[in-house]
Amino acid sequence: METTHDFAFDAGRLCLDFANTLGDRPALQPHEEALRSYTDLVAWSEAAGLIAGDEAAEYTRVAAGHPADADAAFAHAIALREAIYRLFSAVAADAAPPADDLATVNTAIAEAMARARLVPVEGHFHWAWERDPSVLGSLLRPVLWSVAELLTAGELHRVHECAGSDCGWLFLDMSKNGSRRWCSMETCGNRAKARRHRERQHAVIS
Ligand SMILES: [Zn+2]
Repeated sequence: METTHDFAFDAGRLCLDFANTLGDRPALQPHEEALRSYTDLVAWSEAAGLIAGDEAAEYTRVAAGHPADADAAFAHAIALREAIYRLFSAVAADAAPPADDLATVNTAIAEAMARARLVPVEGHFHWAWERDPSVLGSLLRPVLWSVAELLTAGELHRVHECAGSDCGWLFLDMSKNGSRRWCSMETCGNRAKARRHRERQHAVIS
């Protein structure tokens, strides 16, 4: 499927990449929204490697034939994304998880796990999910598994929210000393550096 989207996949975990499809969260308006329709969600899933091109085309075709279902699946996906964001944002802040959001995510995980199956891969077993374009919400099953894995894998202390003002992206800090502060050095890291530089210049002049 042709896509003009420029999605980012550098958060370290799929569920955090999904939360990061909305940027500039702390800003009043406008936020940087990468997902504006069900078609965008299909494009994101394909870019994330969750579905192949022909499967993406099939999801898109079904969505086009059932626009009300596609709208409902999209609205649910966004509600889920926001719940996932608030959950991990609370984790990053060492705060208690919002009960409503945990309930929303738990319900969705239970639905996804009902479709999970074990598949042998080179001497190991992997979780896999039925890809079922007739169920438009099935796209998010691997994302939900990623949430469950991250919440239970003992890496929660590595989950951080970018220190950039008006950013709000989440990431997994894999640095040895746990010192990563920015979603990316190229964007927020450099902006902060430039600001400190300006402030220093200003301090010298005044
Ligand atoms: Zn950032």
